[in-house]
Formats: sequence, structure tokens, C-alpha cells
Amino acid sequence: MKDRVPGAVPAYKLCQWCSGRQGAEAPPFDVVPGRECFVCGGVLDSVPQMFKMAGRRLRPYEFRTFSVGVTLPVGVQEREDELRSALKLKGGETIKVQMAKLVAAGISESTGKKVDKARPDVAILSDFGRGDALVSSKPVFYYGKYTKPAGVAQRRALCGECRGGGCSECKGTGFKVAPSVEEALRTKLLRFAGSDRMVFTWLGSEDEDSRVFPPGRPFVVEVKGPKKRQFPRKFGARVGGGLVAVSSGRMLPSKPVRIPSFRFKTTIRATAASKVQPEGISELHARFRRATVTFERPNNRPAVKMVYSVRARARGRALVIDAELDGGLPVKRFVSGELVSPSVTEVLKTEVGCRSFDICKVREIGAFEFGEIARDEEKN
Ligand SMILES: [Zn+2]
Ligand SMILES: [Zn+2]
Repeated sequence: MKDRVPGAVPAYKLCQWCSGRQGAEAPPFDVVPGRECFVCGGVLDSVPQMFKMAGRRLRPYEFRTFSVGVTLPVGVQEREDELRSALKLKGGETIKVQMAKLVAAGISESTGKKVDKARPDVAILSDFGRGDALVSSKPVFYYGKYTKPAGVAQRRALCGECRGGGCSECKGTGFKVAPSVEEALRTKLLRFAGSDRMVFTWLGSEDEDSRVFPPGRPFVVEVKGPKKRQFPRKFGARVGGGLVAVSSGRMLPSKPVRIPSFRFKTTIRATAASKVQPEGISELHARFRRATVTFERPNNRPAVKMVYSVRARARGRALVIDAELDGGLPVKRFVSGELVSPSVTEVLKTEVGCRSFDICKVREIGAFEFGEIARDEEKN
């Protein structure tokens, strides 16, 4: 290994940060003020401005942990690479890593929040080229159960006029102006989260005319780009003349990779084509005690579902049926027999049509599963 004689290579002019970063192997440098620095040209001096900028951009966000990324002005990284290759220096911290650490330390000090590189609540991109900081927040997942009155659809539907394009009929939203659980939840959650980018997952569905009684039907909503990360356990939203109420709400630790299956109790009001006899009722009770039924799904494999119990009473042709069914078994088809066998129609040997049904109790089977759970969130 040949000795490096000072002066054998032209001395680079570097600021104290950039010279300090080159390690013990490096030859002495001319230490100069930042703006004269060969590598950074003074960019490192703007670190305090950057973490002040980041602090300003972070103000609307609620977070516990953050990460910092850095974009350098064009040429900075290249000049450091050039210097290191000319002087055969390796292994030292790069300017990018150093700047990210300095910005992170500044943010940590002013906010008291911690750095988490793997799963930060918010990621801050410090763009030193433009002198700005961009904040993106990790999505949150909220679980809750809703109840609803009759006359409120579960999901918002596309506008019938424009089919989603936006028109005067739908005030440019692309969605039908009609009460829905989804619309009610969106409005409320926007207020809690400060973001309207939401994706809903429902554990089953019901009719617009169905009432959903407590404890309610579970749902999960992913809110992207949230400013706030904690939503209330309970809240209500006025919809039309009624109330959509949410309870049992909680933040999930991360995106669920598996959603529980469920079973539900329903009260069905139906009409038979001919008078229902007491023997028919007894037959219904006997046939649907933990019975399996097959649901032929078009373009899909048939689904085998469980009917746990059926209790029915008849007055002439009118029937009221209390049933407990597996999630995914459509109530109306279970009554009419369309694609479902055995069905109420099949057992009573007379055509039965469902007029309406209410959801009385939804019970989850199994648990949510999550891909990755941060250790510090298991305490919640
Ligand atoms: Zn420098
Ligand atoms: Zn429209």
C-alpha cells in the first residue's frame, strides 16, 4: 500500500460536515464554508431550515413515529462519489444518510416523536432540491359495527344518469344522491380522519329495506392519507329520518390479511302462494336444524352453507321466519329457492317469496389475521 503524501492529490475543498464524513483514511482537506464545499455547495447548511419546513408540513398530522427520506439537488451525490473514487475512500456514511439523520434528529427534538424506518406513521420526504418537505401518512384501518333503519342502502350506488362520470343530477360526484350507510360513514370519517380516500370491506350485506339491529354488522374501512389516526369507539350519523350508528369501533394494527367469516340471525317476512299448514311449519323446523344447503353461484363453484335453525309462524299465507344462517347465504334465495336447495319453498312445496328481512344479530367466526403486527401496538 503506497503512502498518501499530502499534496500528492489536489486537496478538495469541503465544508466541515462533508470533510468529517470521509473517515480516518481520508487525506486532509481544505475546510471551507458550506457554499464553497465541493460536494454539497452549502446544502448541508440548509438542514435546520428543512426540519423547520418538515415541522410545518407535519402540523396537521397526528403521529407517533416517522421516517425521513432525502432528495438531493442534482450533482451532490455524484460529486461525493467522484471524490471517494478519486481518493479510493469507501465505507463512509453517504451525504444522503447523514442528511436524513440530521433532519430526523431535528424533527425528533422539536416534536418528541420517534423514528421508525420500517413502519412509520408518517414518511417525510425532504426535497433539498426544491427546499420543501412532502408528508405521506400510512393508511389506518378501522373496525366497527353499524346498525341502520329501513330505507338506507348499505353502499352508495353509481349515479343512474352518468354511471359515475359526474353530472348535474349527482352534483358531479358520480354517485346517486340517496341515503346509504357508506355515505354516512364517509362523511363522519372524513371529519375524524381528515381524508376522504376510503375503501370499505363489509361482512355481508342486506337490502335497502332491511333494518340492522344491535350489535350491528361489522365492517372495516381503510383510510388512506389520514391526518388523524384515532377514531371514536361509537358515533352516529343522521341519514334521512333515521340514524346509522356505529359501535365497538377500534383501530386495527395493520391491513387484515384475513377477514372472519360470520353467521347471522334474521327475521324474514314472506308470503306463500297457498295457505301454510301447521305440518308445513313443523317440517320447516325439522328440516332446517343444522342443515346444509347448496347455493349454485353462476360462474363459480357451488357454495355449501349452513342453516342453524328456523322458527316460523304462519297466518294464512303470511309467514314470519326467524332463521340463523351462514354468512354468504342470500336470504331471499333461501326463501324462494332460486339457486338454493333445500329452500323454504322446496320444503313447504308452495312458492314462497321474501317481502323483507331484518338483520338481528351478526356473529363473527374466527378472528382477523394481520400480516405484520408492530410489537409496540400489541399493547393496545
Ligand atoms: Zn459540504
Ligand atoms: Zn351523475
